[in-house]
Amino acid sequence: MTTELRTDITVEEICKGFQYSELEGKGLFGLGGKLVIQPEYQRNYIYAEAKREAGVVDSLLKGYPIGLLYFVRAGDRLEVLDGQQRITSIGRFVTEKFAIRDPDGHERNFSSLAADKRAKILGTKLTIYVCEGAESEIKEWFRTINIAGIPLNEQELRNAIYSGPFVTAAKAEFSNSSKPVLQKWKAYVKGNEKRQDILEEALRWVGDGDIDGYMKDHRFDDGIGELKDHFDTVIDWAGTVFKGVEDEMCGLDWGRLWKTYHARAYDPDAVWARVRALYADEFVKCRKGIFEFVLGGGKDTRLLDVRVFDPKETKAVYAKQTAAAERKGVSNCPLCAVGHEANAKRIWKFSEMDADHVAAWSRGGATDLSNCQMLCRTHNRAKGNR
Ligand SMILES: [Zn+2]
Repeated sequence: MTTELRTDITVEEICKGFQYSELEGKGLFGLGGKLVIQPEYQRNYIYAEAKREAGVVDSLLKGYPIGLLYFVRAGDRLEVLDGQQRITSIGRFVTEKFAIRDPDGHERNFSSLAADKRAKILGTKLTIYVCEGAESEIKEWFRTINIAGIPLNEQELRNAIYSGPFVTAAKAEFSNSSKPVLQKWKAYVKGNEKRQDILEEALRWVGDGDIDGYMKDHRFDDGIGELKDHFDTVIDWAGTVFKGVEDEMCGLDWGRLWKTYHARAYDPDAVWARVRALYADEFVKCRKGIFEFVLGGGKDTRLLDVRVFDPKETKAVYAKQTAAAERKGVSNCPLCAVGHEANAKRIWKFSEMDADHVAAWSRGGATDLSNCQMLCRTHNRAKGNR
């Protein structure tokens, strides 16, 4: 990455052709159209507090520095990476969008300032770093300079790096808070649409986990057809297979679940009955896992983190099992006892064994001690995986 320090660009040049969108509340262009003040990745103009806006103008009038500005070269244009709010404030003042109060308490817009003051503002030279380089370098740099401000999250950074028509269209779809369908999406996807969390998830699903790769490949696409279709497909599938909505459904990796299970046929009534039953089962500790457990045909009990027998129960089982094993002269782990290895006669300590609670639970008798057996750690682990 190359950086160039520019100290020759004046306020007058920056404000040439300044355009401000009242509708969106943001500065758009400057520098005679060569400067994109608010590229796709910038937040909406949040400098609105009159005080801070006037403060920037006041600094110019007093000859105080307004701080470093960071631009990125994008083809023959420049994009503002940091400083968009300051530039917008200056541009808005120079184009008479707001007035400041002079020391006598009079409201002054730009044209009513004395000529020397206007000249002072317009002639101020700004301090600008212009950088040019690979996407990854700019991303890293952007991350660094943002430490001082409100840090951008990963997806906001990506929107910065891959800015273009695709990101514009994607944001209009996935970070638009006024969309009614957002409520439905948020039953499945966690986060804040304004911080690009929904978009990030949609990209993760369609890109099979490779968000950067997908954005890179589609950066200059005019539309987001595939992204939107895929997202809708996944959400519709989730809403069809599972008739109801539970809190724990929010934030699951529905993209992966869809990929793994969408080709299987499900009876939504039976699925939901099973979900309800598992919600009511006090031995299920991980409710988030219920959905994939059911999708997978109810086999992978690890997903549910089934509650274990308490130590009092397991100590009683251990004592009984060990006494019986000693009488027979075999290992107190029933699976070791039937083997032909060194451990066939080994008496394990209580601390070396675990209750085979998962098998007990899946036989439907979790609370019944007759379903509980102690296994050595190795055998219990092997069994729990089935
Ligand atoms: Zn064993």
